[in-house]
Amino acid sequence: MVKKRIIIFCILLISIYTNLSAQTIQSRAYPQNYFRYPLDLLPHTTAGSFGELRPAHFHSGLDFKTNQRIGYPVYAVNDGYISRVRVQYGGFGRAIYITHPNGYTTVYGHLSAFTPAVAALVKAYQYEHQTFEADFKLQPTQVPVCKDDVVAISGNAGASAGPHVHFEIRDTQTEETINPQLFGLTIPDQVPPTITSIGIYHLNGNPFSEKFAAGYYDEIGLGVDFTARDIQSKHKEKGLPWELAKAFDGSAPISAFVSKAKFADIYNINFKLDINGETRQQGNTSNLLFSFESIIAFVSRYITLKKGDLIFTGTPAGVGKVAVGDRLEGYMEGEKMLDFQVK
Ligand SMILES: [Zn+2]
Repeated sequence: MVKKRIIIFCILLISIYTNLSAQTIQSRAYPQNYFRYPLDLLPHTTAGSFGELRPAHFHSGLDFKTNQRIGYPVYAVNDGYISRVRVQYGGFGRAIYITHPNGYTTVYGHLSAFTPAVAALVKAYQYEHQTFEADFKLQPTQVPVCKDDVVAISGNAGASAGPHVHFEIRDTQTEETINPQLFGLTIPDQVPPTITSIGIYHLNGNPFSEKFAAGYYDEIGLGVDFTARDIQSKHKEKGLPWELAKAFDGSAPISAFVSKAKFADIYNINFKLDINGETRQQGNTSNLLFSFESIIAFVSRYITLKKGDLIFTGTPAGVGKVAVGDRLEGYMEGEKMLDFQVK
């Protein structure tokens, strides 16, 4: 008969006890259909969407297509006033900002022309500052606009790879850009998505943060993790998975659990494993390389942790063999937690 050589580990176990309450993502209630589309070209199509990845940033608005040409009227999406005008070599090229009374500001970029009133203000600024580039703010009474007013002509100015209107909606106070589609400016899309790769995210319960992980376990116990080393080396040699070497009946005897409240300091718990009355492994939780909290936080990023789950946290030095007939006893703070014989 071939004797199985078995390696033992003395390991601390912790049990996960709590359920995370379901978290709902709350979205701000944005006014629906308050803003019209900035162009009259139907159907409304875009060459760029909000949040799209660009070389050094996320795209901050919608790029409305203009039939590969410039010269279309651009409309004020609602009442307000032109609050800022910008002329750049790159960037938006020519842009206007309209501030609306409902707390939002809309931005129109890559324009080919301003209205005569705005063009006059730009020219005055350029002469005064002797620069082509301009960026200035306007008072609410200078250029008020009404919904549907033509406020500019579409173009291809600045850093633009083709004629289009770059349109943004910003929070006037914070200048935070918001997806225009959240305001009801939706873009019909008949093209079904093509799957090119699949990523799997942890959705059933969020990952635990290390800061709060202490609240997610309440008991500590001892466990022994047996490895059938003969099977493992054979499988390693052949490049096969070691599953059978780590998981077989009786491969992980576990003690009863003790409330962590019973310990003055969970990072100062002595534990040991005796074989046939002789101490083979002993350790103290102060020697853990990673705290229980960081282990829980790490594991939860990859595996959904639920009430009743156990985590083996690590083993002190002294990993060794056991033979049939050996008696194993595990202790925590001098108290016997495990006592069994290898069969
Ligand atoms: Zn754009």
